[in-house]
Amino acid sequence: METSKCIYCLEEKPISEFNREHVISRFMGTYENAYVLGDAQVCKACNSYFCDNMENILSFDSLEGLLRTENLQKPMKHKRAIGMSRLKVTGNNDIFKGLTLYISSSPNNPNNIQIETAPAIGLILDENQHLYEYFSLESLPICDDTIRARMASSNKPIVVFGYDEPEVSEALKNHGYDLSKARYNGNLALADMTEEQSLSTEINCKVDSLLQRLALKNLFNYICYTYGKDYILQSNFDNLRNYVRYGTITAPLQSFINSGGIKKIPGLVNDCHAVGLAWTVIGEQIHLCGFVSWFDSITYVFDLMPVKTEQLNFLNNVKCVICDNHRRVLTEAEYLTVLDWPGTNKKIGFLDRNFQPIDLDEHSTTEQ
Ligand SMILES: [Zn+2]
Repeated sequence: METSKCIYCLEEKPISEFNREHVISRFMGTYENAYVLGDAQVCKACNSYFCDNMENILSFDSLEGLLRTENLQKPMKHKRAIGMSRLKVTGNNDIFKGLTLYISSSPNNPNNIQIETAPAIGLILDENQHLYEYFSLESLPICDDTIRARMASSNKPIVVFGYDEPEVSEALKNHGYDLSKARYNGNLALADMTEEQSLSTEINCKVDSLLQRLALKNLFNYICYTYGKDYILQSNFDNLRNYVRYGTITAPLQSFINSGGIKKIPGLVNDCHAVGLAWTVIGEQIHLCGFVSWFDSITYVFDLMPVKTEQLNFLNNVKCVICDNHRRVLTEAEYLTVLDWPGTNKKIGFLDRNFQPIDLDEHSTTEQ
């Protein structure tokens, strides 16, 4: 029986236990010339693990999910909310400041998204600046002298989003708020409450290990696709491989995340993804690293391995793929790509064939 080794679990399995794996996760975009790993490279078990535990979750609950909804022609299903555990959106101006907002998909709107307010009760903070402090029904504080004083000097001491008036009045009374002089103004449009025409938002996104693993899986797939299965099966990659597949590591990862896209690679286009390899210097040593950059907006960089470099060095060109999300095509490129590794001193050192540091000063004198 013909068998093959999976590049993620490293198990030797019958060919029938394998299926196709898209190099670039399909939820991040589909392309006319999509790269696919088809020759018994990723087993069905690993493939469905990635789908169920990584991609299906992250497509609705991450900055990546929001970016994909804004940027792709096929956004997520109408009105499906973009999850809140990795992505918190808060109003940042006027009456909206501090108000929790929800983003959902709305293909008829600009950017494919629609912003709604979470149910909230706002207690006046600053009348002149239209600032309120927002609470849910459950988190409403007991009325104290400070709050009472602020409310007494305000024309609009309380605003309510998304709750019905009776339940809010009930809760306010139970928490010691005096509503005897209050007048309920009913369902106002935002224009009745503020003259502010624009909504500015603050988006806090959490980048956790699952997002890192998603990026790393795309990088692994790409390396396998473009440099071949034997290359990605090298044991140097096992630590990263286990991280992608099982979320476990045996040695610390060296990686960093940048807001913004990858820069200065020829062929980059607006809102593209870029996945590829680059050279970098960590400490005093040249390393091969890999990057995954989504929608020009966030870039994950991983140290792959230190590079054996001898006395006379030159660095090869390395490959990357640029995913054009407008024309929906992939373009492969090959350049001498060098990335700055943050916080290192950029003094370059060299390793000999046995991965031992070469003392350059000593070496140059002995050669003369
Ligand atoms: Zn597998």
